[in-house]
Amino acid sequence: MLRKLAVVLGLLGVSALRSEARVLEIYWIDAEGGAATLIVSPSGESLLVDTASVTPGDRDLKRILGAIQHAGLKKIDCLLTTHFHGDHYGTLPALAKLIPIGMYFDHGPSVELDRAYVATAYKAYEELVAGKRTILKPGDHIPLKGVDIEVIASAGRAITSPLKGAGAKNPACADFKPLPPEVDPDNDQSVGFVLRYNKFDFIDMGDLTQNYEQKLVCPANLIGKIDLYQTTHHGLERSNSAQFVWAIQPKVAIMNNGPRKGGPASVFEVLRNSPGLEDIWQGHLALGTPKAVNTDEKMIANLEPTAECKGNLLKVSVASDGKFTVTNERTGYSKTYQAE
Ligand SMILES: [Zn+2]
Ligand SMILES: [Zn+2]
Repeated sequence: MLRKLAVVLGLLGVSALRSEARVLEIYWIDAEGGAATLIVSPSGESLLVDTASVTPGDRDLKRILGAIQHAGLKKIDCLLTTHFHGDHYGTLPALAKLIPIGMYFDHGPSVELDRAYVATAYKAYEELVAGKRTILKPGDHIPLKGVDIEVIASAGRAITSPLKGAGAKNPACADFKPLPPEVDPDNDQSVGFVLRYNKFDFIDMGDLTQNYEQKLVCPANLIGKIDLYQTTHHGLERSNSAQFVWAIQPKVAIMNNGPRKGGPASVFEVLRNSPGLEDIWQGHLALGTPKAVNTDEKMIANLEPTAECKGNLLKVSVASDGKFTVTNERTGYSKTYQAE
């Protein structure tokens, strides 16, 4: 199977599918509630954030390779694993055999090494990335040419001084009620970053949960306003606190949820009450949430349960003037927004 995929990848022309204009492109790969976000800088360099799950028939691996082909890439320059959970680095060992990967970035050792299956997978990761690995701390930059990517959280720590233009007191903090500690504590080790390209900014916080979100936005908002928000933790309720979302005030939110993971009504409520939010896009219809609570169907990439799902992409193209266009591969529907 792997060899067949490698042949397909090798035969594909580099520029055939990539649009001529040099723009920033971001692809959300449908991993049925896992995570894989592919970023292609206007320089042509690429960053793959997370590599989804090991799945029957290599479903997620094939979808990641499909997006890589769609973007016309022959290698991945930077690979970030936000944290060491199976839905974020499951396909990595197989993927690394099929395509060259330049550099690896992560938060440092898993904090769940007392679990045997975690220890085994993490050891394999360490061996795979040896000599090509950078452990990130808040304030570091991921060196993707053509954009600026600043790490704002890693290994349970956060930046302590505000990003440019940020630092205002956050009035919502008084209402925050801490959640019980995470059962899967590596979520709170997640690497989170802000990507900037001229006026445009994008945030991805991995699976950081509410208690740790507060480090970034309470008592002062250290991040400032963000144009595009990948809802944290697949759009689950344990993340996406009102304190965080209403502080960053995203213009557009993209939820990388699965049919049965992420997207409860409570998260939609937080998003819809966020000042300045224009639209929510979803990787999947959240089947356990009323249809009327989900976003408009034309902004949802996949409607079916996993067994029938085609794994359509959501894509964002960002022009140098800050206009960014979200496209739903399923319907071809797209909408353009202006970054501030
Ligand atoms: Zn799906
Ligand atoms: Zn996850």
